[in-house]
Amino acid sequence: MHDVVIVGAGPVGLFLACELGLAGRSVLVLERDPEARSPFKQRLLGTRGLSAASAEAFHRRGMLHRLRTASGVPEPGADPAAYEPMSLRGVGHFAGMRLDPARIDPAALPYRLPNAQLDGMRTHLEAVETLLSEQASRLGVEIRHGVTVSALTQNDEGAIAYAGEHAYPARWVVGCDGGRSTVRGLAGFTFVGTEPQFTGYTMQATTADDEKLRTGINLTPTGMYLRFMEGHIAMADFDGGAFDRSQELTRDHLQAVLRRVSGTDVTLSEVHLASSFTDRAMQTTTYRRGRVLLAGDAAHIHSPLGGQGLNTGIGDAMNLGWKLAATLHGHAPDGLLDTYTRERHPVAAKVLDWSRAQVAVMRPDPHCQAIQGVVRDLIATRDGTNYVAERLSGASIRYDLGGEHPQVGRSAPDFRLEDGTRLSDLMRDGRGVALEFSAEPCLRDAAKRWESRMRYAAGPAENDLGLGAVLVRPDGVVAWAGERTPEREAFEQAAGEWFGDPDR
Ligand SMILES: Cc1cc2nc3c(=O)[nH]c(=O)nc-3n(C[C@H](O)[C@H](O)[C@H](O)COP(=O)(O)OP(=O)(O)OC[C@H]3O[C@@H](n4cnc5c(N)ncnc54)[C@H](O)[C@@H]3O)c2cc1C
Repeated sequence: MHDVVIVGAGPVGLFLACELGLAGRSVLVLERDPEARSPFKQRLLGTRGLSAASAEAFHRRGMLHRLRTASGVPEPGADPAAYEPMSLRGVGHFAGMRLDPARIDPAALPYRLPNAQLDGMRTHLEAVETLLSEQASRLGVEIRHGVTVSALTQNDEGAIAYAGEHAYPARWVVGCDGGRSTVRGLAGFTFVGTEPQFTGYTMQATTADDEKLRTGINLTPTGMYLRFMEGHIAMADFDGGAFDRSQELTRDHLQAVLRRVSGTDVTLSEVHLASSFTDRAMQTTTYRRGRVLLAGDAAHIHSPLGGQGLNTGIGDAMNLGWKLAATLHGHAPDGLLDTYTRERHPVAAKVLDWSRAQVAVMRPDPHCQAIQGVVRDLIATRDGTNYVAERLSGASIRYDLGGEHPQVGRSAPDFRLEDGTRLSDLMRDGRGVALEFSAEPCLRDAAKRWESRMRYAAGPAENDLGLGAVLVRPDGVVAWAGERTPEREAFEQAAGEWFGDPDR
């Protein structure tokens, strides 16, 4: 009997496994694929844009440096002047309309502190999964490949996942088994949303007459094609998602689609690897049914436009991990686990709408193209650029935690104390953090009462954004923000609300 069985060793299942392992829970991950490696996870087809919010999550667990190295991304210089706000490299577009990074105004994001370490970046699935598997194994997580979960039962005490004749009992089962989730169906989740408008294709291919295609993202009167990286082509064909995925992706079919959407007679000389997808946008109505939870693509699917699926899934895992661990430990305050759906469902719902809005703007008909012109003008403004950049980077995410201070419910800025300690340095062990920006702190004794679940640090910060203290949850979200002279009572109330009864 494990504390948690996670179905699916994709990036989301593995991230969650690391979070639970860090909290000392026993975790078994069951993965259908016998092999972790696949050409679809490597560059080019496995390339993924990580948002600043995801980079933050990796950084808070001390993994960002290794991820950069594995992804071939150089370390950003320590020079703050070289800071590019939220780095829009490669992912900065809405419906194919590129953002101009020079127009981003950091002052429009007063609740973030500039930190080049926390830029978004480009990686690939193999780098992410290898890093997370290694980290999970170090934390005592067991990962079994070649195990396909096909049945599930549950009662008040726990759930059992079955693969053939083998039973895997656990106190909780989490389905992280992707867009076609088996767990979602077996546990009876309701999955609702909208049907697709297009079939998308991504391929590693060479053309005989490359000059006929333009680089970058190209919206055309018949669809869209995209070329960012040498040897890679992606395209959207507005066929109502009619392409049947069980069909083989032949060179002839791909060439016909490419010719149609590019309006050229380009010739595909060789297709090395290809896959298709659609913009079907669906979400489960809740992320928990009894002892079964969902995270990542198992809970929400949408088109990859704007690169948000993986980022949303990592956000789910970060949000769920500490709450499930606290529930298993027995010190979670009442209802803590229910805040997982309450906080994360609206985030994915917005991502689905973001995806739908892009599809509507891209659709090749005169009305949609007229909207496209209007949106293009809006995006070219400073406010428009900031708006899109906030959405893409994850900076716009704010949970409704009821606090009055605008920082509450947002990801905490990476505060740097004058002795050089950064908030992210304090978050490596997965506990919450109470941070007080004063040479004469007054919350130390109060914070010590939750010592098993909360670290405490104090001292003037380089920039405290006008705050006296913050209480940061293990997922990096500000639970409470205190003014210059923080009130102990208010702090203790917030600590009890999120961390449960004190140790002493
Ligand atoms: C072309 C393309 C480009 C994309 N670009 C981006 C991007 O730039 N940024 C971004 O954020 N997102 C992007 N995405 C989306 C992103 O890839 C997904 O959202 C992300 O991989 C989902 O991770 P996951 O762990 O939830 O699911 P998956 O990665 O699908 O992993 C699920 C795992 O579960 C296993 N599994 C399935 N069924 C079972 C079963 N019954 N038993 C046991 N194991 C099972 C599978 O084998 C798999 O390993 C893109 C997607 C596509 C298609």
